[in-house]
Amino acid sequence: MNESRPPVSFQPPSRVLLGPGPSDVSPRVLQAMGRPTIGHLDPEYLRLMDESRRLLQQLFRTENEMTIAVSGTGSAGMEACVVNLIEPGDRMVVCVNGVFGGRMKEVAERAGARVVTLEAPWGETIDPQQVAAALESYDDVKVLGIVHAETSTGAHQPLEEISRLVHDAGAFLLVDAVTSLGGMELEVDAWGIDACYSGTQKCLSCPPGLAPVSFSARAVERILGRTTPVQSWYLDVTLLARYWGSERVYHHTAPINMSYALHEALTLVAEEGLAARIARHTENHRRLRVGLEDLGLEYIPSRSLTTLNAVRVPDGVDDARVRRRLLEEFGIEIGAGLGPFRGQAWRIGLMGASSRRSHVTLFLAALSQLLADERAH
Ligand SMILES: *Cc1c(COP(=O)(O)O)cnc(C)c1O
Repeated sequence: MNESRPPVSFQPPSRVLLGPGPSDVSPRVLQAMGRPTIGHLDPEYLRLMDESRRLLQQLFRTENEMTIAVSGTGSAGMEACVVNLIEPGDRMVVCVNGVFGGRMKEVAERAGARVVTLEAPWGETIDPQQVAAALESYDDVKVLGIVHAETSTGAHQPLEEISRLVHDAGAFLLVDAVTSLGGMELEVDAWGIDACYSGTQKCLSCPPGLAPVSFSARAVERILGRTTPVQSWYLDVTLLARYWGSERVYHHTAPINMSYALHEALTLVAEEGLAARIARHTENHRRLRVGLEDLGLEYIPSRSLTTLNAVRVPDGVDDARVRRRLLEEFGIEIGAGLGPFRGQAWRIGLMGASSRRSHVTLFLAALSQLLADERAH
């Protein structure tokens, strides 16, 4: 590197983001981020926090008072839910059928939980009977953690029956909704979810940086009744509640401009209407699915998400070359396979602003050309 060259402003290239996140960000959200920074205890900023909370409650479909945006990406939301609900020695069942269930298990272990893992093959979902059996084998389960939309495999996990089992056993249901919130049906109150977290960079089409979370009144009661302090000071919701609540006690400085972005993204969701937004995600997923199957590609999960499409890389096709050419020649980013799917899968996200018909058409045309080239190779 030439040390004497003066730095120049970074100009990102123009991209079509069809990977597992981040998704395309609307110009309105980017403009909102560029507005003047004000103090985090300014009455106008407090008004923004209040309104964002109300919009988040609508999005999570909940009346939970404890609904806030944690500073950090989706993984911070995961950590916030786990460390607040778990005290060292607590039994937690973690469902693992992909990367993110595996990450939740690791977070739970670090928080001191005695973890029981329920596994399903990658691409499959967890069967309620597995949950019932685990709850029968262990009579001390405090929390069951599960991923609603497993972005590493594209599998869509049904939650209602599992929620009933968990509550019948007197346990709490913790749900990862990072790739479903704002793109797929998710009912925090109606489905009895006690702790739910998401991120801004997937179906909300906001840059990464905040993690919406929601805790039920029951969960908050449990957190307030802890005998040990929450392992993380930064993510302790009892402290965060005093910052977001009427007391407005300083905890940490909220990422002000990121909050402007989230507020604008939530405003866009409200303008479109949640039901219409979910329907748009379903329609574009169907269009993509028909197109991919016409090209001879095969979906991996038996129950696919509408926000993330995981397909097998066809035999004889060079996974990395196709992804590189998509990026270099068409400006399109898609995701590679993770873990056991490395080199075997493509993950095509249609999240938030990226879920649009013109993107589906462009991507299918580009892929069709590249696959023809691969076959000629
Ligand atoms: C992306 C993702 C996360 C982690 O979010 P980050 O913003 O990368 O921290 C967690 N769970 C699921 C299901 C995800 O897709």
